[in-house]
Amino acid sequence: MELSDRHYERKKKYKYPAKSRRIWIIISILLISCCALDMFYYKKIQDGLLEQTYSDLEKESNVARSNLESRLQAKQEWLEMIAAFCDVPDGSGNENWWNKTKQFCTEDYRLEIGDTEGNLYYGDHQSGYVGDKPYYQELIAGKRSISGIQSMGYEGQDSIVVGVPILRDGKVQGAVCAEYTVNSLGKLINSSEMSQYGANLAFTAEGIMVASYPGMEKFGTVYEMLETMEYKKQGEVGRLKKSIASGESGYLVYHNGGRMRLFYYQPVGIRDWYIASLVVTDSYEKIFNELRSMSIIILLATTVLIMAAAVLTAYALKVRRKEIETVKKDALTGVFTREAALQVIQREFAKKGGGSYRVCMFLDIDHFKEINDTYGHDAGDRVLIETGAILKKCLRNTDIVSRYGGDEFCIWVYGDVDSTVLVNIANRILGEYRQAGSVSVSIGIAAAKQGDTDYQTVIKRADQALYKAKRQGRNQFVLDYSK
Ligand code: GH3
Ligand code: MG
Repeated sequence: MELSDRHYERKKKYKYPAKSRRIWIIISILLISCCALDMFYYKKIQDGLLEQTYSDLEKESNVARSNLESRLQAKQEWLEMIAAFCDVPDGSGNENWWNKTKQFCTEDYRLEIGDTEGNLYYGDHQSGYVGDKPYYQELIAGKRSISGIQSMGYEGQDSIVVGVPILRDGKVQGAVCAEYTVNSLGKLINSSEMSQYGANLAFTAEGIMVASYPGMEKFGTVYEMLETMEYKKQGEVGRLKKSIASGESGYLVYHNGGRMRLFYYQPVGIRDWYIASLVVTDSYEKIFNELRSMSIIILLATTVLIMAAAVLTAYALKVRRKEIETVKKDALTGVFTREAALQVIQREFAKKGGGSYRVCMFLDIDHFKEINDTYGHDAGDRVLIETGAILKKCLRNTDIVSRYGGDEFCIWVYGDVDSTVLVNIANRILGEYRQAGSVSVSIGIAAAKQGDTDYQTVIKRADQALYKAKRQGRNQFVLDYSK
């Protein structure tokens, strides 16, 4: 700390807390910035991971969609071929396709041939009636058709029928169909080579399952299944229904048993069908959680490092300040050295208006040599130490007390003090020595004249005043206060 600063330390005490407050503000800003950076980084990675999951899911859904579309399309082409060569159904039971219907009749799927009346033949001479079904009416009208869901149409299971008309000379003579159970279509879009990522569902705009995977049978519609899930916002399923009704594609995020799931939906190019792909975001969440732990560790480490750096810096500054103080202080008496004091005074006098230290007091111990000679050098030292203590006691913290050399002390009084104050100070010092009763001192005081920019003259005048006090018999002060 500079000597001249001592005054400010007292008078403007708030300045120093403000300084340390500034340091703490900087540390806080650093910490907040670290937190913000860390959060930003964490959010970026999280978003990146989520984005990746979203895009993987979308890709998966696209594969499932084109798989469903192309399988049904290929099936229609296969049916066209059969339609071109098969006998027209005549109810005889001897047509050339019975071995084919027998061959393609499994629990998942069967080949069916129908006549214009709506009688449908399949398996080993089995038959049924579908003449009233809209899809069959489309076929008889000469169009290809993919049916809506045939409730319980296939051995008690929901099914979908893909069909083409049998045309002879431009006239419809019947239809060839392939009927799939909803479960078998589900297997088609969820086969392991097709679906590596999640689970796929095809459903109508009303939510009725066209193709699903095991476990979905217990739900009447996709929406029913989704209603059982947990959502961050309310009305998510309603929003999904609306979005599907408008033919849009998009995402739905929900939780099931604490696990986050993503649901991507998009229309399929068949009727009002939709396909949806679902994924449990386990791997994503695992990375996400690891990332969160890492972020916390990084944040804590950064905090500790910043705090440690702050404490070390504060400690280094304190040590440095102590070192400076030591250099500036007289080893024996603990008051400032002559050089240190003069450095400050020189600066003060150079200031505009002459600075704050305009009064110089010189103090010299009377007959000090005799003390040394009589009681020894150590006793003399003790008197010097005592003098340092008395001066610190009699002067304010803002005044500068220095050892000028030997038994001579130079004091610079702070502020615009009048002669009465100076007389009081001098008397107080003399009184302290008188009270102790061992040694006395002489004091010379001089105040700088207005506009005086040379501190040396003030010192000289104080020294002359001291000399005068000595001549006048010691144990007294002389004041030169000619302003
Ligand atoms: P006067 O009343 O005229 O001041 O008489 P004096 O004996 O005090 O004379 P002077 O001020 O010239 O004497 C200073 C003496 O202080 C000289 C020197 O031996 C002694 N001295 C200087 N530095 C030290 C110190 O560090 N320790 C001790 N014990 N004595 C010192
Ligand atoms: Mg002396």
